Amino acid sequence: MAVKKEKIGVLFASFEAVPFLKTGGLGDVAGSLPKALKHQGYDVRVVLPKVSVIPDKYKEKMNHIKDFYFPLSWRSVYCGIEEYTLKGITYYFIDNEYYFKRDGIYGYFDDGERMAYFSKAICEIIPYIPDFDCRILHCQDWHTALAPVFLRECYRGQAIYERIKSIYTVHNLKFQGQMSDYVLGDVLGLNEVPAANSQLHINRDTINFMKGALLYSDIISTVSPTYAQEIQNPFYGEHLERIFQRRWATLWGILNGIDTDFFNPEKDKAIEENFSKDDLTGKKECKKALQNEFCLEENEDIPVVIMVGRLTQQKGLDLLACVLDEMLLKPMQLIILGTGDQEYEWMLKNAEYRHPDKMRVCLNFDEKLSHRMYAGADILLMPSLFEPCGLTQMIAMRYGTLPVVRQTGGLRDSVSCYNEYTGEGTGFGFNNYNAHELLYTMQHAIDLYRDNKDVWYSLVEQAMNQDFSWNNAAKTYDEMYKEVLK
Ligand code: ADP
Repeated sequence: MAVKKEKIGVLFASFEAVPFLKTGGLGDVAGSLPKALKHQGYDVRVVLPKVSVIPDKYKEKMNHIKDFYFPLSWRSVYCGIEEYTLKGITYYFIDNEYYFKRDGIYGYFDDGERMAYFSKAICEIIPYIPDFDCRILHCQDWHTALAPVFLRECYRGQAIYERIKSIYTVHNLKFQGQMSDYVLGDVLGLNEVPAANSQLHINRDTINFMKGALLYSDIISTVSPTYAQEIQNPFYGEHLERIFQRRWATLWGILNGIDTDFFNPEKDKAIEENFSKDDLTGKKECKKALQNEFCLEENEDIPVVIMVGRLTQQKGLDLLACVLDEMLLKPMQLIILGTGDQEYEWMLKNAEYRHPDKMRVCLNFDEKLSHRMYAGADILLMPSLFEPCGLTQMIAMRYGTLPVVRQTGGLRDSVSCYNEYTGEGTGFGFNNYNAHELLYTMQHAIDLYRDNKDVWYSLVEQAMNQDFSWNNAAKTYDEMYKEVLK
């Protein structure tokens, strides 16, 4: 009789995951990576907060499986576990209305306490997950950073927890969860624990959740090989570079993928007309529709340039501000979709006012519109100051839209820059964080679009031929999981 091989249990913890919650790339990753890991043979379950903004159609179908109270420093806090299975993946939603019944996901005065609660709840629910042999706890970003800390400090010696190894993945080093020192005792209840006390502090008055995760986790990873190198350097390290230098041997850099079923120009229902790399007629229709939607001149020969993303310093908006007017002297149309810092929103709205026939700015979060933009545009602009991975450029290439990027982090790892001697490339790149390098690269791309359509469409074909699915990444995650269990 064949012996049934038990699958290794992976609890994948994140504060957002599509289709339930999304503010950016983390939501995309947490919504698609677990499926790829399941294909690698792991028993992956995902834990998320039951935040009010989750659409009702999902909330209504969740099953309540358990509720109990656990201590968070002097508090006794409620924890409900709601279960929901979608496309073969089981999700556990942590229910606590005091922390999660809010109109938004992040940005509250008590985010530190909310994330501390969530991190401890992740550990608390493990024994109650049915038929699950948890061997790996895989945490994402600062929201779950305290889970590896609690795992070691609060549950040591208990058999079910002793078997668990922890992995912590940095998606964005900019957000670390820095809190006043009183949180250590008042919220985490760890001020009497000497190791936690020294590992979480960054100075006498401040603790840092992410620093805790980086020191307590068995393996740490980030979302592209180049970013894994960059963060060992003070320019990118956000004051944590020494930890990355010290832990380089257990630091993995694995390039994210995208959900290629969801981002699929051949099947996407959100776009004007479907298309494939073998027949780009539909893309031309999408471009026309986009120009019409934004009341821009409907003209195939004018390249449509888009930006989609958070309007923050990270995304290179300072560079754009310097050369925007000069850039718009070229025959082009620029459409920007995003929300973010007020200074950038105003800068862009102001530029839109100055260039009414060439520029549109949409200060919104609109998933469907973003698909119409990826499909209808010719060029995606992404001049990031730093970019741990970036998914936008991969989505753009999948829709035959060539990225113009600063070659940093995941942009360097995913976009191959046009080489005019070999004809190879899937986009255009520049190296230094310099506005004129951006300007020249953009001008070069626009000239190529105007003057040499054969080369342009050969680049489009190369871009659309890239495999940005999770297949490659999942194999490397598999190696990392094997490594941590050794
Ligand atoms: P981030 O640094 O924000 O994680 P990524 O490039 O990794 O950036 O991922 C951004 C994801 O969020 C992409 O799927 C992109 O299409 C989406 N996105 C960002 N801003 C918007 C917006 N304003 N409207 C619609 N989708 C957006």
